[in-house]
Amino acid sequence: MQVFRYSQARTVEAAVHSGGTFLAGGTTLVDLMKLNVLQPASVVDINGLPLDRVEALPNGGLRIGALVRNSDLAWNAAVKEKYAVLSEALLSGASPQLRNMATTGGNLLQKTRCYYYRDTNYACNKRQPGSGCSALDGFNRIHAVLGGSEHCVATHPSDMAVAMMALEATVHTQGANGERAIALDEFYLVPGDTPDRENVLVPGEIITHVTLPALSAGTKSHYLKLRDRAQYEFALASAAVVVEVSGSTISRARVAFGGVGTKPWRSREAEKALEGQSATTETFRRAAEAAVAGAKPLRYNGFKIELAKRALVRTLQTTTETA
Ligand code: SF4
Repeated sequence: MQVFRYSQARTVEAAVHSGGTFLAGGTTLVDLMKLNVLQPASVVDINGLPLDRVEALPNGGLRIGALVRNSDLAWNAAVKEKYAVLSEALLSGASPQLRNMATTGGNLLQKTRCYYYRDTNYACNKRQPGSGCSALDGFNRIHAVLGGSEHCVATHPSDMAVAMMALEATVHTQGANGERAIALDEFYLVPGDTPDRENVLVPGEIITHVTLPALSAGTKSHYLKLRDRAQYEFALASAAVVVEVSGSTISRARVAFGGVGTKPWRSREAEKALEGQSATTETFRRAAEAAVAGAKPLRYNGFKIELAKRALVRTLQTTTETA
């Protein structure tokens, strides 16, 4: 029988040196412990750490503590006013009860909803490296069309991270070797032949906060999530856009997708197809085609390619209508 130790970390340094798995909101970790998917030798409660504030930065950006609850972040006045895409993404995720518990750091680190990962009766390279991937020849309707490998095709489930990707967020960490600032686009790893490694964190390293850059006046943003039902469901395809429009020309665009990639998927191809072009549906469709040019469908998820394209076109239409 597995033995768990539970302790309360009172400083970030104590947490870093605890050697335990960090417990924040518990909305992922506790679920997966009940399913025997995760079996940490020790669990360290970090809810007492002073990382629960949202603060304006002198440069006009925002600093979001790792323990800020998803609900608090979604309804924060500065987030709603300046970073609408983030508020919308957060409110599209999970349920009000879960959002009241889930934290910013935990949301970034949440685990895939791949059915085979969550069921220990099936082979899964992410859960048990080298055991195989049951999704490749299984029911892979919810799996990735971008970023997959012959070892794993699981999607990353976060909505919040997709919005943060389009906002070019930076993740700040603290570990035994000091502090690091990591661009969110470099934080996540595609599965390759090590799908058990999902990000660049090293053992003991803790996310302390996330920063968002200042946005120019007139920047507009929006998040659209397409799924099997309107509430309490993960994305089949979602799109986050942050755009600046001068006259009728798109001067700056940032695009990210959820539900289709093995990580929150920034599309520089779509951004390139948008910038300097007129804000028309024709332009948006070209950007959507560019975004999925490298997509690789599996047996049951080919529909996601069209869904992702439509999500991006509609999101751009909505955003630029009000620009
Ligand atoms: Fe496991 Fe990834 Fe395959 Fe799902 S897709 S069974 S998470 S290896």
